[in-house]
Amino acid sequence: MSSEFQDKVVLVTGAGSGIGRAAAQAFAAQGALVYAGDLNAEGLEETQGLITAAGGQVQIARIDVSDEADIAGLAARIDREIGRLDAAFNNAGITGPTHLIEDYPLEAFDRVIAINLRSVFLGMKHQIPLMKRAGSGAIVNTASVAAITGPGAMSAYAASKHGVLGLTRVAAMENAAHGVRVNALAPGWTETPMVVANSAQNPAFAELAKKAIPAKRGGQPAELADAAVWLAGPHASYVFGQLIVVDGGMTIGG
Ligand code: NAD
Repeated sequence: MSSEFQDKVVLVTGAGSGIGRAAAQAFAAQGALVYAGDLNAEGLEETQGLITAAGGQVQIARIDVSDEADIAGLAARIDREIGRLDAAFNNAGITGPTHLIEDYPLEAFDRVIAINLRSVFLGMKHQIPLMKRAGSGAIVNTASVAAITGPGAMSAYAASKHGVLGLTRVAAMENAAHGVRVNALAPGWTETPMVVANSAQNPAFAELAKKAIPAKRGGQPAELADAAVWLAGPHASYVFGQLIVVDGGMTIGG
């Protein structure tokens, strides 16, 4: 096992499930002290149990990523307890309902934007000062293939993820000279608990979706986690402001 994150402090949001949990486990397996944030306390405790059982180090924080007080509070806690933040994976997100634009409820639109996009703005707003102060750091924001495509009925989701890409590029520009790298990760169809549950409810759709992916299968959370860890780590030291697409080839056919 490599120890690229030995003595490093890494914040992961959405760490109570899916890609965030797998990333928290992967960072911890490489030696990081992980601060795992999520709204779901039960999920967080499960993640904590998995990491601890594997001999890793983790602290948990129940936060709402769309709430500035929660985000600022977690950054301040890390600063107080450790005095340093080496990497952050701003990953929590929701899909939101599916409707045509003319039927999309404004409240639902605003909620998706708050949880998927405002969260990334707030995360970086409070993470960057710690990293700039140290003269180094890496941030990875979870976008989606919906950052580069326009899936029908998912206006709020696609807008939020296009926004994550824009914020990532701006933050990369603003901070490259300060030793802080900012990049985005674009998962395709990834078999997290939510996707697996939806597939069980609608197996015919799931089969069709998988057939449309050149790799003929969904991604595993651990495969996305590996990409996030690479982006946040020393082997990506010259990668700035990029969107890394991990989608089994889903978007290559145009
Ligand atoms: P998931 O539902 O398994 O995990 C998301 C986690 O975010 C959950 O633990 C949830 O409690 C948490 N969360 C939701 N709202 C929150 C809030 N307001 N504050 C704090 N935590 C909150 O989903 P996942 O598939 O692991 O998704 C992770 C990220 O990957 C999301 O940003 C999602 O949009 C993105 N993504 C997923 C897929 C996929 O196919 N699974 C594809 C593209 C992008």
